Amino acid sequence: MKYAIIIPDGAADEPLKELGGKTPIEAAHTPNMDWVAQHGRQGLVRTVPDGFESGSDVATMCLLGYDPKKYHTGRAPLEAAAQQIPLSASDWVFRCNLVTVVDGIMKDHSAGGISNAEAQRLIGDLSRAIDVAGLEFHTGVSYRNLMVYRGHEAIDVTTKPPHEFPEEPTSKYLPRGRGADLLLGIIEKSQELYAHHEINDVRRETGHNPATQVWLWGQGHAPDMPSFRSRFDVARGCMITGVDLLRGLAVLLGWDVHEVEGMTSFHDTNYAGQGVETARMLDKYDLVFSHVESPDEASHQADWRTKVDAIEHIDKHVVGPVLEKLRTFPEWRLLVLPDHPTNIATRKHGYAPTLFTMAGTGVQCPRPLPYNERNAAASGLRIEHGHELMEYFLRGGSR
Ligand SMILES: [Zn+2]
Repeated sequence: MKYAIIIPDGAADEPLKELGGKTPIEAAHTPNMDWVAQHGRQGLVRTVPDGFESGSDVATMCLLGYDPKKYHTGRAPLEAAAQQIPLSASDWVFRCNLVTVVDGIMKDHSAGGISNAEAQRLIGDLSRAIDVAGLEFHTGVSYRNLMVYRGHEAIDVTTKPPHEFPEEPTSKYLPRGRGADLLLGIIEKSQELYAHHEINDVRRETGHNPATQVWLWGQGHAPDMPSFRSRFDVARGCMITGVDLLRGLAVLLGWDVHEVEGMTSFHDTNYAGQGVETARMLDKYDLVFSHVESPDEASHQADWRTKVDAIEHIDKHVVGPVLEKLRTFPEWRLLVLPDHPTNIATRKHGYAPTLFTMAGTGVQCPRPLPYNERNAAASGLRIEHGHELMEYFLRGGSR
């Protein structure tokens, strides 16, 4: 049996007046996703359990079959796993975003999708300017960097993801609690250092958002997760993603990570390359998990045109070739779902259940309708505990 899972990150949404009352998935031309729904089934699944912030860390862990209530220790520890950063039980990891803040207002959680090279310079300079025992900085992809704290100060802080408060004052969401002073000191240092940094001068001159400071959040200790193989008896898994967070989950699951040239978090990503490589990896692996970040980023920018276009690209260049490849195997199943909604109207991750569709060997088709939020809701199929979806999918849609 060959399994493929395709994740158009944040693609689920609400009806938009700009789209004549349709959701972006509904408005997009998606013949391949529709084929899946019309030859299999669709429904809703709650991937963000009560009490959790909606985000790809929680939602992806959940849809992979791991209950976040049991296994989620924060977002940053997953990204640290991706970078193979060794952590002892007492070490803390924080996400260290490069962000754009103007007049105290959070303008951009991604500092204009800053390049890796620019991020490396800025984070390197910050690291050299700060003299705190046990503090380390690790650059990741674009604005997504990490800070590890192996020091002795007790930490018990509340932090807020910067993509959760666009256009709001940062003062409302600064780290609070034990150890907050340490974090505030780092944030202030970055503001001083970046105010007249030459990288920012160039970014301003070329019309790009500057990285005015770092923002620390998503902290946690290292999680302790059983391998996917031991949990689901599927031997070889492969992850394809442009995002460190998901590479980290793959490492913790005991999967391989396959890199595709030209993959980014944005709409400039190499969709075609990802589709070709996802299909190709099915020869080698029992399960291939292919994640595309671009619809999520478009949603955070409230860019509904790009969101629709990104969904169409994923359908054509990833779902299409993967479906074609799967059908060459005697037994196969395909699952497509956004990990969570990201709403154009609010530019934030939503908490509504997301829509999934699956087809393949043994999957019944009760109602052959195109894939969208409306039809998924009308199907009556609803999985309340999102971590049960994986078992449901691997069994071909029986509970
Ligand atoms: Zn997002």
